[in-house]
Amino acid sequence: MVVAGRRKSIGFFIALGAGLISVILLLYVGWVFLSWRSGILLFLGVLLLAMLISGIVLNTFFLVREIRKNEQQDAFINAVTHELKTPVASIRLYLETLQTRAVDEAKRKDFYRIMLEDSDRLLETIEQILRTGRIGHSTHKPNLSRIDLGGLVQECVDRARTLHNLPAEALRYQPGAPMSILADMDEVRAAVSNLVDNAVKYSGTNVKVAVEIVPTDENHVSVRVRDQGAGIPQTELKRIFRRFYRARGPAAPRVPGTGLGLYIVRSVAKRHGGRAWAESEGPGRGSTFVLQLPIAR
Ligand code: ADP
Repeated sequence: MVVAGRRKSIGFFIALGAGLISVILLLYVGWVFLSWRSGILLFLGVLLLAMLISGIVLNTFFLVREIRKNEQQDAFINAVTHELKTPVASIRLYLETLQTRAVDEAKRKDFYRIMLEDSDRLLETIEQILRTGRIGHSTHKPNLSRIDLGGLVQECVDRARTLHNLPAEALRYQPGAPMSILADMDEVRAAVSNLVDNAVKYSGTNVKVAVEIVPTDENHVSVRVRDQGAGIPQTELKRIFRRFYRARGPAAPRVPGTGLGLYIVRSVAKRHGGRAWAESEGPGRGSTFVLQLPIAR
């Protein structure tokens, strides 16, 4: 409902801008027709017209951008509320059951396991939000140390296998030659984990994810995460790295999330003098995410 309302208002402002420009052009043509002999007036008129049109175009552009930003923030608040509420509601339900009913030992253990998983999910969402705040602040500098990239990626892959209950062949890892980077361990770990988690999340039931470390040139090394899942349309490849951005439309799978993961990946890459990008042949054809970082000398 809110989104449909916003769409209407974006349409209204674009139509208003286009209408105003047409009226000005019409007036201008009429005016030139009437006073084409007086050169200075004509020159001033042209200048004024150019200024007016640029003002209206800029105004419409910024207005539409602001509306889009608000729209994304609304979607983010909805998504975060959902991500926070669901595990808390689940934990509460299990606690109530344990309190009010006699539950046998095996079931009790199962309940504890689910509650632990829910609290991990809750902590992960909170940590993601806090991390976004931290890396968005220029005053918060990365805490650099020399890191073995292979070991760190192996850690992320192992964590994802346990978290998503995956066999080794569903999530494969090719370490490559040993590589050291000068980086903030926590930030790079978060970035790689986000890429691996997304690859699993957007693969649905067909999880075939491959992670590898490859040197890109003599100064850089890349962590490549390839999946055979949902894929990404060409037009979305850059946008998905924006803060709060989540792909929409019929091609986008309905997967819970907050739109912060790839923003964190890109920010971490930039803070370390690297880059992050996505490659995909299109919807349904899988995607590859690359995190490129400078090698430590
Ligand atoms: P979230 O996953 O919480 O929505 P992200 O910032 O991690 O947020 O991702 C932004 C968007 O990019 C996602 O909503 C999804 O549409 C798209 N995306 C990310 N990773 C993949 C992937 N491996 N395959 C297909 N789409 C992806």
